[in-house]
Amino acid sequence: MGDIIQLLPDNVANQIAAGEVVQRPSSVVKELMENAIDAGASNVQLIVKDAGKTLIQVIDDGKGMSKNDLRMAFERHATSKIRSAQDLFALSTMGFRGEALASIAAVAQVHCASRTADSDVAHFLRIDGGKLVESGQEAKPVGTSMEVKNLFFNIPARRQFLKSDQVEINHITDEFERVALAHPELGFRFFHNQHELFYLQAGNLRQRIVGVMGKKMDKHLVPVEEKTEHVAIRGFIAKPEAARKKRGEQFFFVNNRFIKHHVLHHAVVKAFEDVLPNGYHPAYFLFIEVDPASIDVNIHPTKTEISFADDKMIYAMLSSAIKHSLGKHNVAPSLDFEIGNTFSFPSMPKDRPVQIPKIQVDTHYNPFSQTTPERRPATQGWEKLMIDDLQPSKATPTNNAFSNAEKESDYNPFYQQQKNYKARLFAGSYILYEDGEIIYLIHPKRAHERVIYDELMRSIDKHTVASQQLLFPVDLELSPTDAESLKEFLPAMTSLGFDAEIQNNQHIVFFGIPTSITESSLPGIVEDILSDIKEIGSMDETQFNRRLILNLSRSAAVKRPEHLQDEAIQNLLTNLFQSNEPMISPRGKSIVFSLTLQELHNFFNS
Ligand code: ADP
Ligand code: MG
Repeated sequence: MGDIIQLLPDNVANQIAAGEVVQRPSSVVKELMENAIDAGASNVQLIVKDAGKTLIQVIDDGKGMSKNDLRMAFERHATSKIRSAQDLFALSTMGFRGEALASIAAVAQVHCASRTADSDVAHFLRIDGGKLVESGQEAKPVGTSMEVKNLFFNIPARRQFLKSDQVEINHITDEFERVALAHPELGFRFFHNQHELFYLQAGNLRQRIVGVMGKKMDKHLVPVEEKTEHVAIRGFIAKPEAARKKRGEQFFFVNNRFIKHHVLHHAVVKAFEDVLPNGYHPAYFLFIEVDPASIDVNIHPTKTEISFADDKMIYAMLSSAIKHSLGKHNVAPSLDFEIGNTFSFPSMPKDRPVQIPKIQVDTHYNPFSQTTPERRPATQGWEKLMIDDLQPSKATPTNNAFSNAEKESDYNPFYQQQKNYKARLFAGSYILYEDGEIIYLIHPKRAHERVIYDELMRSIDKHTVASQQLLFPVDLELSPTDAESLKEFLPAMTSLGFDAEIQNNQHIVFFGIPTSITESSLPGIVEDILSDIKEIGSMDETQFNRRLILNLSRSAAVKRPEHLQDEAIQNLLTNLFQSNEPMISPRGKSIVFSLTLQELHNFFNS
C-alpha cells in the first residue's frame, strides 16, 4: 500500500482553526479592532450591518501594510508580533497567534485595503472563503480598511446557529466597549445600519467610562489606586447606588487586556459586602498591571481568561484597594440604602424573602441500590435530569421576584418559536434533527456535556448554586495524601454546590451535591479531581473550577443514549440551542454534524 497521510489543504486547516477563533460576528470585531490598535491607530471606526451578518468593517489610521505584508497577513501563523515562543512571555500587543486574519478569511468574503506612509497608493486583496480572488491598487489614506462580508457564507450550519440580530449586536457592543474602555487615548466610532451608536473622542479614563456607560455614571464613579512593587491597580468603582441586579458593568483589564476572572470578581464583591445587599453586582472598571511573565494568557482560545502566578496576592491587594477607596470616599451603607426606594432597585432584603439555599431531599434514593446504579428507577439518573433539572428556569434557585429580569438576554428565537423539534433517535446513537433544508445529527453525550457545563459556569458566575442534600451521605475512602490534596479545594467544591467533609484524613463524605450530577458519578468525579491535581501540580481556583466543571459535565452526561425518551430529546435540544456554543463540546469536540440539501444535490450531481 502506498503512503496515505496527507497534509490538510490550507483552506481546510483554516476553516478548522476558524471554529476556535471565529465564534460569531463579535469575535471578528474583537480581532479587527485589536489589530487596528496594534497597528498604532489614533482613530478606529467600526461599521456594522445586520448585526455583523452582512458586514463588519474596521477602518484605522495606523501604520498600514506593504503589498507583501498584506499577502502575508492572511497566511496562517503569520504575525509581525512575535518571533519566537520566548517572546510570548514579554507580550504587550493584543493578538499574537497570527491566526485571526487567516481564520476570518476562511469563513467570509474579505476585502482588505492598506496603505503605508511611504506609499502613494493603497494595495488591496479580495479573498473569498480563503481563496484569493482579486488584488490591485486603490486610492485611500494611510491606514487599513478591513471589510468582512457574509460571515460563514460557506458554512451554512454555522450561519444557521447565529442568534437574532439583537443578541449578536449586543455581543458586538460588548466587544466594542471593552476595547474602547481599554484605550481612552484613542478615538472610536461605531455605526450599525447607518446609525451612530458611539462617538468617543480621545480623553482620559473617566471621560471614556462616561462616554461608554452614559452620563449618569459620572456622579457615581470613585477612583481606585494602589501600587506595590509587583502590581499596580487603578481605575474606578461605582458607588453602591449604581449597582444592579443584572451583571454587565464589570470590567477587569490586565495589562490592558479585557479579562474575566471569577476569583478577582469575588474579591470586589467581597469588598462591597457591607455596603451592598446580597445579589447586587457592583459596577467596576479596574486596570491591573503585572509583569507579563507572571500571567498565562493562553489558557483560553478567545483570550478572555487568564491565570496569575500569584492569585492570592492580587486578590488581597484588590480587596484592600477597594475597601480603602470606599472608606476614603465615605461610602457607607446607611447613606445609600436607608433613604428608601428612591433608587431604581429595591433596597434591603427585609421586605423581600431572604436568600435561602435550595435544598432538595432525594426521596427516591435507595441506599441498597448503590452497587447497581443502573437498576434505579428511570426518573433517577440522567433522564430525570434532562426532564426536570435542566429546564432553564429551574436550574438556578430563584431568590425573588426579580430573577426574571436577571435571565440571560441571550435568548434564541430559533428555540422560542419551535418548542417541538422534529427530532428522533437515530440508530440508538445520535439525535436526528431536521430543520427546513438542513439535517443535523447530534451527539447526545457531548450535547449534554455542553448543557451541564454552561449551567455550572452560569451558576458560579452568579454565585447561585443548585444543590441537593443527600438523604444518606456518600462516604468514599481516600489515601492520606489524596485527602490532603483534596482539602485545599473543598471551598471551591462548595462554591459549585458540593457539601463535603474530609474525615480522619482518610474519607471524604458527601452530604450534598450539585443538582446536575448524580451520586453514582461521585467516585468517578473524585478520581478525576485527584488525577487533575496530580497532573497540574498546583492550580488556582479559576483553573480548578474549570477543570472540575469539565469533569462534572463529563461524568454527569448521558451515557446510554439508546434510552433517550422523546421528552428528554426535546429538552436536550432546547437547552443546547440556548447555549452560546451549541456546536462544540466543552472539551472542544464537535457536537453537530450537518448536511444541507445543497450539499446533497452537489453529491448526487458530481
Ligand atoms: P496577529 O494579530 O496575531 O499577529 P492577525 O492574523 O490578526 O495576527 O494579523 C496578522 C498580521 O497582519 C499582524 O501581525 C499585522 O502585522 C498585520 N495586520 C493585521 N491587521 C492590521 C492592521 N489593521 N494594520 C496593520 N497591520 C495589520
Ligand atoms: Mg490579530
